[in-house]
Amino acid sequence: MSIAALSLALLTAQAVPSDDLVIRNVTIASPERDAVLADQSVRIRDGRIVEISEQLLEPQGEEMLLDGQGRYLAPGLTDSHHHVSFVPGMGAAGLPPANEHPALVAAYMTQQPRSLLYHGVTQVLDPAPLTGWEVFTDQPHHPDLLRCGEVPGPHDGYPVNQRAGENPEGAYPYDIDTPEDAASVIERMQTDGAICVKVYLEDGFGAANDWPLMSGETLDAIKAEADARTMPVLVHANAIDMYEIALDHGLGVMAHGLWNWQWPEGDPPVVETLDRVVAGHVGYMPTLRVMGGLSDHVRPGALDNPDLVSVTPSDLMIFYRQGGADWFADELASDFPADMPREEIAGIFGFGVQRGQRALAYLHGQGHKVMLASDCPGSPTAINQPGLCTLLEMEAMAAAGMSATDIFRSGTLTIANQFGLETEYGQIAPGFIANLVLLKENPFESVSAWRSIDAVILHGEVIERDSLRAP
Ligand SMILES: [Zn+2]
Repeated sequence: MSIAALSLALLTAQAVPSDDLVIRNVTIASPERDAVLADQSVRIRDGRIVEISEQLLEPQGEEMLLDGQGRYLAPGLTDSHHHVSFVPGMGAAGLPPANEHPALVAAYMTQQPRSLLYHGVTQVLDPAPLTGWEVFTDQPHHPDLLRCGEVPGPHDGYPVNQRAGENPEGAYPYDIDTPEDAASVIERMQTDGAICVKVYLEDGFGAANDWPLMSGETLDAIKAEADARTMPVLVHANAIDMYEIALDHGLGVMAHGLWNWQWPEGDPPVVETLDRVVAGHVGYMPTLRVMGGLSDHVRPGALDNPDLVSVTPSDLMIFYRQGGADWFADELASDFPADMPREEIAGIFGFGVQRGQRALAYLHGQGHKVMLASDCPGSPTAINQPGLCTLLEMEAMAAAGMSATDIFRSGTLTIANQFGLETEYGQIAPGFIANLVLLKENPFESVSAWRSIDAVILHGEVIERDSLRAP
């Protein structure tokens, strides 16, 4: 389908396509405002917004003209917790079982950035890109990749103990074993392009609680060096005790929501911990799709979700349907009685989503700003496909009581402010990177607007949405 078939009249002054562009008659939906601005013109040059006007701007030189009549122009979303080196239903690329399916992994890696763009995600932050993330940025069209450097922690602890098989050579370039290592390793991390540091506080899943943790002295040394370099420290934590350690050491961003607590009667027992998050202005990534993905993965029939088709290569879909990812459902079910129906197990994981939503609702009620963060695929769940997962995360935030406007801001302004990117991403204003989305519906009004994307603009290049669908 051509752009014209989208009813966007695209005229070029020259036969050679250009990334310089004038959009006219468009309604601007920029999240720093409280309402849309109708009938605007926007000029984009060299991948950045250079001019916005109520006047009808004329294209100059080789600039293309795009008629945005009936469309909303919004900044593209940032998913602040997405893993580019993990394959849904398989796990880390390069490790078993993913390394047994090279053709499927290649098909996934080709589609991954397209699926993100398909859902309006024009930036991702990967807290733990491992090795091989260049496969993502080597694709012809890909969201801008922002990276943390991952400090793996003790190798008999999380997450190394969960990465099956032999770890490839150089898998952990930022090992910090003692506090003295922190300065040189974090300096190297920043030189390599990382904008943040990722650490882990996890003493076990399910019944386990004996996995070793990084020492307090090492956490303090990492924080001091990261602060000196204005690199936020993201911490994997999702239980009260792990949160308390992170808060005691002043770590800046919780990379997961707080969902690990007993199902309560009355007030959640996590209020005191959440109050510390608010008081400390600690960044918060709800990552509701972690438990949502586990719940979906064990639920019979979840692969029938019609939204999967547009983002999942058909060969990979066949692989899932033939049971290729059932090993992980079996692994999840092994923690429950053998005769417990899978529906019931899915419901138990669903309680984790509800706890996360209650924690989110509490923080939101306190006026605490949270970040859009799906943590996809996070674990080898088949349903957490890129882009779709970000959309599902937004829908889960809406179900927790957040308004469409607040969710829009969580995926734009809040993330940009947290990571020092507030003059680059998240607004439609002169000087900002032209990573934009054209929608048929108003993103201030409903999260469902993010299901009405018409086209994506990536550094000024207009990409029709249907061209991004999975083969
Ligand atoms: Zn993660």
